[in-house]
Amino acid sequence: MRPEAKASINLNALRHNLSRIKELAPESQIVCVIKANAYGHGIIPVAEALMASDSFAVARLDEAIDLHNRLKIEKIIILGGVYSEEDYLKCIKLNMIPVIHCLEQFQWMQNCLKQNSLGWDEIHYWLKVDTGMHRLGLSTDELEKIILNYQQLESENATSYLPSAFISHFSCADEVDNAENKIQMELFEQQIHHLSSWVDLSAVHKSMANSAAILSIPKAHYDWVRPGIMLYGVSPFETALPSRSGLDEQLQPVMTLSSELIAIKKLKKGDCIGYGATWCCPENMTVGVVAIGYGDGYPRHAEHGTPVLINNLEVPMVGRVSMDMITIDLSLLEQQSVPFNVGDRVILWGDGLPIERVSQKSGTIAYELLCQITQRVHFDYE
Ligand SMILES: *Cc1c(COP(=O)(O)O)cnc(C)c1O
Repeated sequence: MRPEAKASINLNALRHNLSRIKELAPESQIVCVIKANAYGHGIIPVAEALMASDSFAVARLDEAIDLHNRLKIEKIIILGGVYSEEDYLKCIKLNMIPVIHCLEQFQWMQNCLKQNSLGWDEIHYWLKVDTGMHRLGLSTDELEKIILNYQQLESENATSYLPSAFISHFSCADEVDNAENKIQMELFEQQIHHLSSWVDLSAVHKSMANSAAILSIPKAHYDWVRPGIMLYGVSPFETALPSRSGLDEQLQPVMTLSSELIAIKKLKKGDCIGYGATWCCPENMTVGVVAIGYGDGYPRHAEHGTPVLINNLEVPMVGRVSMDMITIDLSLLEQQSVPFNVGDRVILWGDGLPIERVSQKSGTIAYELLCQITQRVHFDYE
């Protein structure tokens, strides 16, 4: 036996989740968000499994280049945009679609086109407007500046300089009743309406919806929806609606994280377990040691009582998470006469145990748990 932590990636579940998104937003095109190594699932096999989608988006140019080189995917959307003229040139050559979210980026793009005597029709870009997230995106004034610029450019060159899409991002879409959602949508509509008194925007697409908005704000679906977390089978409402998981949204978990039981110990009442001796046995009991820890990406802040699954029974973790190990209470298996042995598989999340249950016990969100799985974990694709 050579125990190792394993992430089993269920590509059928991934495809199921994509078809669920199609059902939810039948009028929209889908851009699958596969930034951060497809939320920790492995960008290449995930992209290969999602070829039925309309497009892919990543956060950074390097991610897009990797995806393009390895899978020859075109028109990859770069959500964070690029940060030099040289990088715009790369985008053009590789037929990528950067997001432009500030005036500097717009200027760099213009310079790049001028210096390389390229036609404006050679670059496609999405323009991001700030409707209240106040992170990336152009203000109404900045948008106007860009539109005035178009008019001047158009009168000089008689071509269209318009973006392929206007996009914005919700700050509170996971809180279904938050008034901010409506305010942001109204501002988005107003901004576009305002600009359309200057230029004809009828051919420009719109996009606002992340996973939470796909599920709860149908009016925000527009031309493109941008699902991330729900593709991986996770509920975007894990903080706002903690009793729900992806299963309640008819999504299937894609990653199942598991490892092996490597030791079984009989402990006495009062024996304390692990670093800091933070948990002590309330009675004589049997405890198991599992080969997974924060060195694999299991959250160190998981509390006593965080559920794990062994031989189809849910049992609590006890004691602190170490780098390579956790300890679990096996009393329930003994009470129910379920046999257990060293070598048994223990599921930390995924099939039979929603990851949302673990993130809630760890003071974080499933997004982070998925992204922080380390190199030491062995990935299987099925
Ligand atoms: C990451 C991201 C998404 C996807 O968000 P989820 O909550 O994972 O669905 C959508 N749009 C933008 C701009 C993003 O950065």
